[in-house]
Amino acid sequence: MNDRLDPIETASRSDVGYVRAENEDSFGEFDREPGEHLLVVADGMGGHQGGATASRLAVETIGRVFAESADVPEAMLQRAFEAANREVLERAGRTPELLGMGTTCVALWLGPGAEGWVAHVGDSRAYRLRSGALEALTLDHTVVAEFERRGFLTAEEARVHPRRNELLRSIGVDRAIEVDLAPISIEPGDRFLLCSDGLCGVVDADAIRDALAEAPPPTCAQQLVDLAKRAGAPDNVTVQVACVGGA
Ligand code: CA
Repeated sequence: MNDRLDPIETASRSDVGYVRAENEDSFGEFDREPGEHLLVVADGMGGHQGGATASRLAVETIGRVFAESADVPEAMLQRAFEAANREVLERAGRTPELLGMGTTCVALWLGPGAEGWVAHVGDSRAYRLRSGALEALTLDHTVVAEFERRGFLTAEEARVHPRRNELLRSIGVDRAIEVDLAPISIEPGDRFLLCSDGLCGVVDADAIRDALAEAPPPTCAQQLVDLAKRAGAPDNVTVQVACVGGA
């Protein structure tokens, strides 16, 4: 059991890709004493200004709640996502061009000890690489992922399914929001990845694992974006990498 961890290094990259006119993804890295880190990726939707506005509002709101909150991480994340949901809904209600905007969101809280938390809504993902194995920390809230979990589709069928972008949950759509919250363990040498579907939709898990495996975080983040671009980058791609030292 370790209760003091070596420093955590992080890096983020976002790229518009080769097909979309605008980057509607947003990300944020937030730190707080003593030794707390929060990483957030949001993938907006809603055309023109809408998507970019929704994802930016979600990231900013979650960062603000993190900075101000005295709650334990689970309650802080729940409250942060609820606040982001209200913020996106209210902004859309005041601004006709933004009506119908929404966003996915995945957040990773890394504490100074051996505990972390993952929160998410939608199909942006979190992974942990430990001892060479890449483990998904989130389940997509999509129609297709649900079909796959129930055995109606194989992973390969799901990957190319015409409804693969249909979300079952997102921020900014409904007054009520259901957030998936899960505690995770942190060990020296662990590497974490948050990403929008612009990465995991076109790059397979083995390639993600290899790109995340050894290099310092800025290099890993760039390698991951480059993989998506080599696959044609049909969507905006955003990645955040966090490496725990001391392996
Ligand atoms: Ca996307």
